[in-house]
Amino acid sequence: MKDKKGLLFVLSGPSGAGKSTVIREVLRRNPALYFSISCTTRPPRQQEKDGFHYFFIDHNQFKAMIARDEFLEYAEYVGNYYGTPLPQIKSKLDAGIDVLLDIEIQGAIHVREKMPESVSIFLAPPSFQELERRLRSRNTDKEEKILSRLKTARAEFQKMPLYDYVVINHKVEDAVSEIESILKAEHCRTAHRMQLIEEE
Ligand code: 5GP
Repeated sequence: MKDKKGLLFVLSGPSGAGKSTVIREVLRRNPALYFSISCTTRPPRQQEKDGFHYFFIDHNQFKAMIARDEFLEYAEYVGNYYGTPLPQIKSKLDAGIDVLLDIEIQGAIHVREKMPESVSIFLAPPSFQELERRLRSRNTDKEEKILSRLKTARAEFQKMPLYDYVVINHKVEDAVSEIESILKAEHCRTAHRMQLIEEE
């Protein structure tokens, strides 16, 4: 039996928790899941492609999208703007397709306010020391940015209790399989199975 509407899953976690790797694997193993590509004013990192990792836009374009109410949510994060474009998400959910967002905590809180039926997952690193090690070994950001991301990460950890689920990323394959369990369990909620009696 298929749910009428898709479910919206929000994955957040401190920068360096391994979100991108985990998400890549979740999407590879679940091709029916739609991953929302965000808009950002941050410049692309090496090997990032426009329209694939993000839609890289400038501040004026971002402001114009805010004015046209085209974001489900947006937030400023470490000096740049990030936003989730609404129209694609709506059409996927309406078509019964599950949608996955990779967004930071302020955005996740806004999504929860706007769509309380969404499901939020906090991806945590095994420890703060491990987070710092991962951020430094990534070698993509300057020291100042790393310190800023670490400070933000500490604050983000405090918001963990606001999430529906917490997945600890010790090993990517274990984190991926826990996330898959959450996706499956959420579809089994009674609220999503009401067709069984409604169709009687
Ligand atoms: P990065 O610069 O490392 O790609 O992303 C920085 C943070 O921005 C990450 O925590 C990521 O989840 C978050 N992010 C990416 N897209 C969005 C978005 O559309 N909205 C919000 N609020 N955060 C986002």
